[in-house]
Amino acid sequence: MTECMAEIAIVGAGPAGAHLASRLADAGREVVLFDGKGAWEKPCGGGVPTRAIREFAFLLENTNYPRKLVSRITMISPVGRRVSLTVDDPFAIYSRRVLNGLVLDRAIEAGALFVRAAVSDFSYDGSGWDITTGDGRRWRAKFLVGADGAASFARRRLVGIFPRQDLALAFGYNVAVENGAPTEPALKDKRAESKPSMDEVTVQFPKNFTGYLWAFPRPGAMNFGVASKLGEKTSDQLRALLSGFVSDYFGGRMPDSSRASFFGAKIPTLDLKSWKGLRTSGEGWALIGDAAGFADPITGEGIYYAFKSADLLAEALIATLGDKPHAPADDESFGGGASTIGSPALYSRAAKRYDALWRDAFGKELEHASYRLPQFYHGRFIGHIFTDAMIMLARHHRGVRTILGRALTGEQSYVTLKRDLMRRAFQVI
Ligand SMILES: Cc1cc2nc3c(=O)[nH]c(=O)nc-3n(C[C@H](O)[C@H](O)[C@H](O)COP(=O)(O)OP(=O)(O)OC[C@H]3O[C@@H](n4cnc5c(N)ncnc54)[C@H](O)[C@@H]3O)c2cc1C
Repeated sequence: MTECMAEIAIVGAGPAGAHLASRLADAGREVVLFDGKGAWEKPCGGGVPTRAIREFAFLLENTNYPRKLVSRITMISPVGRRVSLTVDDPFAIYSRRVLNGLVLDRAIEAGALFVRAAVSDFSYDGSGWDITTGDGRRWRAKFLVGADGAASFARRRLVGIFPRQDLALAFGYNVAVENGAPTEPALKDKRAESKPSMDEVTVQFPKNFTGYLWAFPRPGAMNFGVASKLGEKTSDQLRALLSGFVSDYFGGRMPDSSRASFFGAKIPTLDLKSWKGLRTSGEGWALIGDAAGFADPITGEGIYYAFKSADLLAEALIATLGDKPHAPADDESFGGGASTIGSPALYSRAAKRYDALWRDAFGKELEHASYRLPQFYHGRFIGHIFTDAMIMLARHHRGVRTILGRALTGEQSYVTLKRDLMRRAFQVI
């Protein structure tokens, strides 16, 4: 068995791992990126929120990777009340094969070495990592990053799996369409108001349910899904709810099975109590993206946090190790200095720095979302179920529609959501 060397080994080439690889390779670090699947159709809605496309401008810059820009959203409340709104700044919807391909291609162009193999084992000996891949090859690296998603092998080995209360279960269908229209059956709905459009997103909040159903238009496909807290509903109940939603969308019939591919997966949606003690780094290692637990507990949206956590880990490593492997950082607070370059202590310092960065950038916001989750799905507001009240107010108040639109595109803080809704509602009254 040959042993290959790299400075930083990243397990998983999804948005988190591949983005980290390109940031580090750009800064001159030697990176190896492992993934047995390459760019694949990961179970996902593929909705990339507005703030992600604003912060990570490279996403829209390259038009070779088709995506749908959407600015119209229809929301359906637990009692069937509807509102349609148009957001000022659209968000993007991708096939995950395309999105992963975009990020992985950038990493390879930046100089990261991509190895199409899953990591099957690793161990740390105090100065570096011995890593084995599924094809039997062995690697040696100084720093190990787990970016291998919600069912992360790296996480399992480093800190343990997510407990049930920290997960949501999601199922979905990708339904192929031709020329922007579903091939079969045609959309038909008697009420013009409820007629879905292939260019808009639909989100429905079922009654007594910690989650929602969605219909996302992608280039060449409609993506449908349902997500709810793990253990709240059985798989059969979720699948039945989803089938009803999909068949309603297509006017009462499920699309031909040859055009529909079914998927299911878990999403980290951390319980309030889990945030304080959440471990995302240690001696010579760090976790990013879903593997770290970074998804919005209310919406399950994790693509932004995958990119953002990768960015913050890159920032911590580059600032601590220096832009170029031979050029140490001059900031003494990171312990820069030629004598410590490549030393285990330096990587651990970078990992600690990363912990502080993500907690500051989005940790508090996500923790607050966990706190708000019961109120969001089950609480009452002005005498109605909270989601119904939001939709009811939005039907009448433009200001409320703005707030709701911002919440859906990831630009509204949960901390001030209720207060902002009230303010906007009373402003117009
Ligand atoms: C049904 C569903 C719908 C969703 N919809 C949305 C949405 O619309 N918008 C949104 O923002 N978020 C959504 N999410 C969440 C989103 O999919 C994740 O937050 C996001 O993909 C996390 O990116 P990541 O890079 O951390 O992990 P992943 O995208 O999961 O990437 C992990 C990678 O690691 C690889 N891997 C796994 N094990 C190994 C191993 N042992 N060795 C090497 N590689 C390995 C996998 O092949 C995979 O490519 C959804 C999730 C689900 C389940």
